[in-house]
Amino acid sequence: MKTEDELNKEILDATAKIQQNYPELTRFADEMTVTIPSEQDPQINATELADYSNSLQTIAAGYAKNTKQHLVIIGAGFAGLKLARTLNNHPNYQITLIDKNNYHQFQPLFYQVAMANLDASNISFPLRNIFQKSKNVTIRVTEVILIDAPHNQVHTTNGNFTYDYLVIATGAVTNYFGNAPIEQYSFPMKSTWEALQIRNTLLTHFETAITANSLKVQQILSIVIVGGGPTGVELSGALAEMKTDTLPLEYPELNFAEMKIYLLEGSAKLLGAMTAVSSAKAKDYLEDLGVTVMLNTMVKEYNGRQLLLQDGNILESTFVIWAAGVKGNVPQGIAPVFVSKSSQLPTDAFHKVIGTNNIYALGDVALMASEQYPRGYPQLASVAIDQAVNLSNNFLRLPKNKSLVPFKYTNKGSMATVGRNKAVVDLAKPFVSFHGFFAWLIWMTLHLFLLIGFKNRVIVFINWIYKYLTHQQSLALLFPNLHSKNKT
Ligand SMILES: Cc1cc2nc3c(=O)[nH]c(=O)nc-3n(C[C@H](O)[C@H](O)[C@H](O)COP(=O)(O)OP(=O)(O)OC[C@H]3O[C@@H](n4cnc5c(N)ncnc54)[C@H](O)[C@@H]3O)c2cc1C
Repeated sequence: MKTEDELNKEILDATAKIQQNYPELTRFADEMTVTIPSEQDPQINATELADYSNSLQTIAAGYAKNTKQHLVIIGAGFAGLKLARTLNNHPNYQITLIDKNNYHQFQPLFYQVAMANLDASNISFPLRNIFQKSKNVTIRVTEVILIDAPHNQVHTTNGNFTYDYLVIATGAVTNYFGNAPIEQYSFPMKSTWEALQIRNTLLTHFETAITANSLKVQQILSIVIVGGGPTGVELSGALAEMKTDTLPLEYPELNFAEMKIYLLEGSAKLLGAMTAVSSAKAKDYLEDLGVTVMLNTMVKEYNGRQLLLQDGNILESTFVIWAAGVKGNVPQGIAPVFVSKSSQLPTDAFHKVIGTNNIYALGDVALMASEQYPRGYPQLASVAIDQAVNLSNNFLRLPKNKSLVPFKYTNKGSMATVGRNKAVVDLAKPFVSFHGFFAWLIWMTLHLFLLIGFKNRVIVFINWIYKYLTHQQSLALLFPNLHSKNKT
């Protein structure tokens, strides 16, 4: 029988070993109910101590015996989630999938959450649900605060993780181009929370307008969307439909002829990545719906009430949505020399971050330049998914010593919807553009297909049919505190 001192020493050794070699297990050791006896708690007997010591040593030994390579993936967006799913249950890899949210968010439908057409849960999917039966994927819901590349460690708000391979798939964040007042007063839409915040602010504005004086009403009912990419086009189209379909019925006290929707775009066309035909058609659609489209219009300042344009004109609005740009979301710790001007991580054709040995980057945060795309591939869900598939194939080839396959980009074309029966599609092969009802059907089918989870697809589909038939949405619920600009 070991003495209490010997057992205590064993426990301290095992704990130190875990802390040093497997920091990610420290939490489990800390959570074990029995602790080393102290003056405050001298009751623990030798049997309990021996059990505790055995358990600790079993954890450490079991982990050490595990010969799998530890792959840490930061971000469960389109790229990170696809990678984890394709390597799910693979015998060679132990995967830790880290995300600050416990769900995957489907960004292409954020605008429908913002316009109260869909519930946030319809476009989000719980990560633990996806990997319920996985033997090798562990989910950690925590924020990465630092990458310590020299020590192969990722630091998070909930402990550190040591990796053999690290994949950064942290996506992009809103780019305000250094304009702090615009960042302070305008509303971005890069997360489910931000989409809900737009919805709440919008509804609050209508409630406020009912009792405001007529001058103020105009300011409150002027909504400006900055950025004429797909997000700006889709948002302004949905808002315009809301203005004619639902709002007059729900707010009979308000005169919606006073409601103005502005879409501002800095360049000479909407949907910059699409063909001239599709851009022009989208503009026609929006103008038919009553949106004021202002091209070649740059925003200079915004103080929460007035939007000053570069040409000196002023738009009065207390509600500005900023959809004018994104930049890569590179975690702290990566040396600036490895980060591009677009705040992305330049990678080689095998997704490895240039200048590193075992760090990869995928999706919006990665910049893989090629002859045809010197500034990298478009920041699209399809690109993120295709890159993840290629990297996972290479991870499968690695243990077999097979040569790695470079990423080959396939342009699948692009599309945007403006509203009911109104969408524009540019196909890459064959190179054709079309618009109208058929384009809208394709847009809907593709987005339904891309959504994760059968239940979500069914619910979204039913919501769309209901909206199509009744011209109504029924999700205009106000949640207190969500309308404030700062996250609480
Ligand atoms: C409003 C909107 C509409 C869009 N519409 C379309 C469309 O119609 N078609 C299309 O192809 N593309 C569209 N896109 C672009 C598309 O969503 C992105 O290209 C795609 O999401 C990129 O995937 P990703 O995996 O690189 O990053 P994301 O999908 O953004 O995932 C990044 C993940 O990383 C997590 N994360 C970030 N930082 C940290 C951290 N420090 N710690 C832990 N976790 C972190 C985030 O929570 C997130 O889950 C749209 C984007 C937006 C914003």
